[in-house]
Amino acid sequence: MPQRQIYLLSPRQLSAETIAVTFAKTSRSPQSFRQIAAELSEEQSARFHEKWVIGYGHASVAEHAVLHIAFENVSRLAVECIESNRLASYTEKSTRYQTWNLDEFYLPPEIETSPWRARYVETTRLLFQTYQDILPALRAEVRKRLPLRENETEQAWDRRVRSQYVDAARFLLPASALANLGMTVNARALEHAIRKMLSHPLEEVRQIGIQLKQTAQEEVPTLLKYAEASPYLQTLSERLPLVASKLAAPSPSSGDWCVLVAWEPDAEDRLLAAALYRYGNLPYLEALRAVQNASHTQRLEWASLLLSGVNRHQLPLREFEHTCYTFDLIMDQGAYFEFKRHRMMTQSPQLLTAGLGYATPRLIEEAGVAAPYHRAMQAAAETYRLLAEWNPQVAQYIVPNGFYRRVLVTFNLREAYHFCQLRAASNAHFSIRRLALRIAEEIRRVHPLLASAMELPQESWEEIEAQSFV
Ligand SMILES: Cc1cc2nc3c(=O)[nH]c(=O)nc-3n(C[C@H](O)[C@H](O)[C@H](O)COP(=O)(O)OP(=O)(O)OC[C@H]3O[C@@H](n4cnc5c(N)ncnc54)[C@H](O)[C@@H]3O)c2cc1C
Repeated sequence: MPQRQIYLLSPRQLSAETIAVTFAKTSRSPQSFRQIAAELSEEQSARFHEKWVIGYGHASVAEHAVLHIAFENVSRLAVECIESNRLASYTEKSTRYQTWNLDEFYLPPEIETSPWRARYVETTRLLFQTYQDILPALRAEVRKRLPLRENETEQAWDRRVRSQYVDAARFLLPASALANLGMTVNARALEHAIRKMLSHPLEEVRQIGIQLKQTAQEEVPTLLKYAEASPYLQTLSERLPLVASKLAAPSPSSGDWCVLVAWEPDAEDRLLAAALYRYGNLPYLEALRAVQNASHTQRLEWASLLLSGVNRHQLPLREFEHTCYTFDLIMDQGAYFEFKRHRMMTQSPQLLTAGLGYATPRLIEEAGVAAPYHRAMQAAAETYRLLAEWNPQVAQYIVPNGFYRRVLVTFNLREAYHFCQLRAASNAHFSIRRLALRIAEEIRRVHPLLASAMELPQESWEEIEAQSFV
């Protein structure tokens, strides 16, 4: 019997494109991967990709070519497009553990050549200056509540509590604030990402797309060769806003910030049926009928079997993905920036605007810096209003993290468990904790049994809201 072998194809020895071809060739070749790789040159790999991946559409081969891409000094608004790619991994500069200097913001080319340049720079500087100015007062307020421990150094104290005061100051940071992020992505997902960037309405994002394509081609020259702008995406981003702008204005009753707009009333039956289907041999409709005809006690027994052992470190079975929830959410932009990192969801954010108002963290009032905070936020709202009449896409850059944003989101129950448990934890930012607890409450309201194993803190979202926001 041939011996089992498990080994790495190291990117230190083989190019990303050669690794991808080596794996692809196992489909037709009886040779070992080492033998296949040894016989390949970079030119042969390029020819293979041209023929199979590009010519015949065997695109999944490109997933074996993985890149690690560093982005520095891109606006947080551009980060949204970069991170909108679900099949990739990211780590970015934290607004909770780092602070921003006065000049760490982006001046968009559209504004540079417009009559709005001076106004944009003045408002951005006011936001950054206010951010810097209120940090000491917020820090002092936190110090009153969380004094230095015995033998604790000033630096150790700061490391321990920094997020508490930076969490409040971050509401002032505009979407133009510059960020660094690392992205790990395969060439197939990257091609899609570049296409989205090249089709984007913002000049900064299109420039990033061009630079990214050039940079990544140093590693994967063939696989990204045909990454071009998508006329489909370009047309939609030009035409759909015109169509949508003709709809009626929102009604006064559309104010709730967390509305469960769709769920499946028979989710419990369907989920139990899916689990019995997987571990049995019935066709699905017969499994469903068996569940529907079962006694209440029997169903409870099956459900408790499915849920026992589920906790923060153990997600429920994949069958929990057969039931979904759609929420219409309003959250502050800071919370959205964290929320968008959850890739196992379908998220449709509206443009960032100043139209829905802004949140005020309670710490800002308690530290006595509400007046400069409101002054800066109102100045941002006014500059936004002026800019938005001219270009609503570009106007987003001026909007600070504290402003509210609408997002339509659909996710399955398994992801709901993950999101709610992770983001309701006490170390999360109060804004996303409130959101996670409210989402959990809504799911429990419609599916008390299915959501009963979620491990959540004792606090309610109302308590977090009362403690953390004015
Ligand atoms: C306390 C805390 C601090 C954080 N600090 C930072 C920070 O400083 N900087 C920063 O950039 N982010 C930070 N994050 C965000 C974090 O890194 C995640 O991006 C975010 O929480 C989304 O979580 P997720 O990846 O588990 O969830 P989702 O994207 O919702 O995915 C759900 C689950 O699917 C699986 N999954 C999804 N995609 C992959 C994949 N590509 N490979 C393997 N498994 C996958 C995982 O099991 C994952 O838990 C922080 C998060 C927390 C909770």
